[in-house]
Amino acid sequence: MSSPLDVVARFPRVRLGHAPTPLEPARNLGPALGIELWIKRDDCTGLALGGNKVRQLEFHFGEARSRGADTVLVTGAVQSNLVRVAAAAARRLDMTAHIQLEDRVDDTGELYRTSGNLLLDRMLGATLHTFPVGEDEGAADQAMERRAAALAAEGRKPYVVHSAPGPVPLGALGYVLAAEEIKVQAREIGIGFDAAVTASGSALTHAGLLAGWRALGEWMPVLGICVRRDAIRQAARVTEVVCALARALRREGACGEGDVEVSDAVLSPGYGKLNDAVREAMALAAHHEGLLLDPVYTGRAMAGLIHHVRTGRIAAGSRVVFIHTGGLPALFAYGESLGPWLSEAPTR
Ligand SMILES: *Cc1c(COP(=O)(O)O)cnc(C)c1O
Repeated sequence: MSSPLDVVARFPRVRLGHAPTPLEPARNLGPALGIELWIKRDDCTGLALGGNKVRQLEFHFGEARSRGADTVLVTGAVQSNLVRVAAAAARRLDMTAHIQLEDRVDDTGELYRTSGNLLLDRMLGATLHTFPVGEDEGAADQAMERRAAALAAEGRKPYVVHSAPGPVPLGALGYVLAAEEIKVQAREIGIGFDAAVTASGSALTHAGLLAGWRALGEWMPVLGICVRRDAIRQAARVTEVVCALARALRREGACGEGDVEVSDAVLSPGYGKLNDAVREAMALAAHHEGLLLDPVYTGRAMAGLIHHVRTGRIAAGSRVVFIHTGGLPALFAYGESLGPWLSEAPTR
């Protein structure tokens, strides 16, 4: 049977992850919040501790391999999950990874610069570079292009994973497929969702799910929780990626203006920084469900979900799917700020 998503199969892809990932009911946390909560366990995508970047990079590495690349360049925050998974994918495919670490979060502790994802990047043997700015995607991409040119001059065949959204958002294709995967799982269980909640950063996950579900005739709201930009800038970012995706999937006109919903209610004080709402969400998930959330993305996304329940955007009793996008290595990099708080936290 043909699917509106068949065109995704025309893009080169290498399988890197475990899929389908489990879709699990949160039998304690859901009732504690007054909703029926399901967790899409994309923290379990497998490669080098998993997370959402595995699905995204399957298409970047597919493209890299189809071009005969032997070296991949990628950029991100010091505790980037993207660069860690890219470093592992490169090893799996017998390529070299050059990763550029941006100075995006100030006031970090020693562990932030030594543990978590950074420890894993080094274990995976990636070549590390630093970049002094954290909020200039164009400049970060240009720095990688210059390095790629130098590597090409040495006879390497480099492929750059850009961080600014290009004409074809390859990474989002992974979440177009995930949208279909979740739809199939929900149908097998015999349920439908009233809403989905996901962290929204580069917007590849958010836009991929949104475009995928709409193409499949699934109309649930996709509630993006801002982890990096305020709501106005993030809505523009998601829309840009959804439109690019619509063109790539030959569904022009399916741009989704008015269908992009983001909240920055729990973003303060900014990217990679904890606040009380994030701490509460991490504690609730751990204490009620044995479910670990990370301090940068999924803790904030769950805090956003809780905010939506408390303010009525998510009605009591709704059936909600929360996308667990991974990120757990960062737990260890945030040990200095999480540790003192945990010793004070009630044990329920
Ligand atoms: C990158 C990342 C996100 C954000 O996903 P985008 O596709 O960049 O919006 C969410 N959670 C984790 C753990 C991530 O590493």
